[in-house]
Amino acid sequence: MIELKNIHQAYDQKPVLQDLNLSIPSNQLTCLLGSSGSGKSTILRVISGLEIPQTGQVLIDGRVVTDSEKIIVPASERNIGFIFQDLALWPHFTVYENIAFGLQEQKKSHVKESVMEMLDFFSLRKYHNKYPHQLSGGQKQLVAIARSLVLNPKFLLMDEPLSDLDVKLKRKMLDYIHILKKKFDMTIVYVTHDHKEAFDIADQVVVLHQGNIEAAGTVSEIKNSSNEYVRYFVTF
Ligand code: ADP
Ligand code: MG
Repeated sequence: MIELKNIHQAYDQKPVLQDLNLSIPSNQLTCLLGSSGSGKSTILRVISGLEIPQTGQVLIDGRVVTDSEKIIVPASERNIGFIFQDLALWPHFTVYENIAFGLQEQKKSHVKESVMEMLDFFSLRKYHNKYPHQLSGGQKQLVAIARSLVLNPKFLLMDEPLSDLDVKLKRKMLDYIHILKKKFDMTIVYVTHDHKEAFDIADQVVVLHQGNIEAAGTVSEIKNSSNEYVRYFVTF
């Protein structure tokens, strides 16, 4: 379980997250849903340890990992996979090298077997020698996901991972994510501004507005929420 307690994050005195409290249950898919600028990416960065909030605590499985301006457990030791909005693939690495890099850094054995397993799972084997610029948007997305999963993270943070895809590919990717969650038994935090996407995959939906949580609950609870902003946000 990931817990954020009384998180306050400001940039240049401008508050972005104000006294934010959030619980992310294990082995579930939690969607952070909100319009652009509502603080979704900031929350992911705070969870991962890439951002240090001015006040508040982050706990992972009961252990304090960030405590008001202090990083207790660094990002690299949090067992978190992060799929950035721009994917951040290494352009000068092939598909194989992109997926293998993290394992090599960690001096893991069986690098080749692990990478091959990912390539097969995502039907990417025939692209193993291609560079990111030679791939379609969907293939790049798969490589970014494979690159995170190969490290076997306990938590996977996905920042609008499907926003650039056409409807058909998005459908396929949403089905993949359903399978991933089951197969890898992971806790996923999935950021989107698209309520239909959130309703499609979430166990828990957290609706954000200007850095505040307007509502949190199951899909049907959010669909039936009496919160005025939530009703407005999910109607179009
Ligand atoms: P979202 O992901 O929901 O679009 P963000 O978390 O990226 O929102 O940003 C929330 C607010 O914080 C926005 O107003 C944004 O301009 C501001 N912000 C985010 N990162 C920075 C930064 N590094 N410096 C200054 N302002 C930032
Ligand atoms: Mg964002």
